[in-house]
Amino acid sequence: MRLLEDEMDAGLSPATHKKACVKMFPTYVRDTPDGSEIGQVLALDLGGTNFRVLLINLLGHAQITLTSKIFVIPQSIMLGEGMNLFRHLADCLLDFMRKENLVKSNVRYPLGFTFSFPCKQEGLASARLTSWTKGFSCPGVVNEDVVKMLQQALDEKNINVQCVALVNDTVGTLMACAYKDPHTAIGLILGTGTNACYMEQLDKVGTWDGDYNEPKQVIINMEWGAFGDNNKLNDIRTKYDEEVDLSSLNPGKQLFEKMISGMYMGEIVRLIILDLMQRELLFLGHREGYSDYKAPLFSRGGFYTKFVSTVETDEGIGFSNTRRVLEDIGILNPTYDDCAIVQHISRHVSKRAARLAGAGLAVLINRINRSNVTVGVDGSLYRYHPRFKRNMEKCMQTLVNKNIKFKLALSDDGSGKGAALVASVADRSSRPKTV
Ligand code: BGC
Ligand code: MG
Repeated sequence: MRLLEDEMDAGLSPATHKKACVKMFPTYVRDTPDGSEIGQVLALDLGGTNFRVLLINLLGHAQITLTSKIFVIPQSIMLGEGMNLFRHLADCLLDFMRKENLVKSNVRYPLGFTFSFPCKQEGLASARLTSWTKGFSCPGVVNEDVVKMLQQALDEKNINVQCVALVNDTVGTLMACAYKDPHTAIGLILGTGTNACYMEQLDKVGTWDGDYNEPKQVIINMEWGAFGDNNKLNDIRTKYDEEVDLSSLNPGKQLFEKMISGMYMGEIVRLIILDLMQRELLFLGHREGYSDYKAPLFSRGGFYTKFVSTVETDEGIGFSNTRRVLEDIGILNPTYDDCAIVQHISRHVSKRAARLAGAGLAVLINRINRSNVTVGVDGSLYRYHPRFKRNMEKCMQTLVNKNIKFKLALSDDGSGKGAALVASVADRSSRPKTV
């Protein structure tokens, strides 16, 4: 906690920001919504497991309705030339707009873009990508303004949409949660990747270059996934963490993220299993005659993070779920002990992740230091893992100052809704404009 606090201060101070690994980017989002926002806004949500296009109706009185569609981003696009990624997003948006009857020559819709990668923002609708993370690595985008690239792709196809705001998914989640609960001051993502944002006082943000009007605060996108990229976490990283990092798309980067998030958790478990096999401590029945080295267990990514959740739902002695998972990865007749060991590994890898994230949150909550703090949370890991929330809360109860009451609130569709809220505030009369 002390280390993270130091890294946060380094990210916020102009003298050290450049070298800092936890970047603490100011977002230009200065206020949370109050529920009165109205309008019809489109949103794109890119950067997690799914790419979504959303149409959001803000009805006022904290009421929101939405329709959305999920599209697949093929790996060839996730790793291909940058402009093609944005053209693909534009194609998906157009497909959605046709189905929803939104293609009109005399109306221009505002759009909020949830782009879940580290960006140095220069305004609400201007953001330069600093590096790709997770499974993306498209050449030609780092250092570019991604709003401009998206708008160019939209304009090439004459799509009647104007991108008016870019937000990180953590910011979207905070905003969507604040729409319902005014104590919300933190947004957290525990999904493919991990990150947090929070409302900071302007006088603490040395890197702030905007105005000092009320409210004297701004949401900071921490990019805490990069915590440890300067080797400060090496004492608590294991050889499995090192291995996960070395075989990733971005070695040496996002080291905190790689100890926590869904993209890497299953792989950590897999590497521990392999290590125990090599040391003849696990699956002994498979040692003789085990020839199927093509089994998923032996290939990178072969143990999905959702398997960690499944294994941990087994209570009691039957291990029926664990057996099913082991069968899926190529272990056909595990013993009771085999199952118990795999469950033990899973529990401890996910508990470590929950405690790391929980300790990070405790730093933020103690820093905000208000009597009530709500954390808006989203992401597949948090949503689907059976114990993540409980483990995180348990750890936070010991780390958060006793005078503060905190709450973790699941934010449904948060990142998309939040982008729409930011867009609607950015574009005050965000009802579709007649042009
Ligand atoms: C990205 C963040 C994002 C997080 C959760 C990380 O890899 O750098 O911008 O918020 O994933 O999606
Ligand atoms: Mg998401």
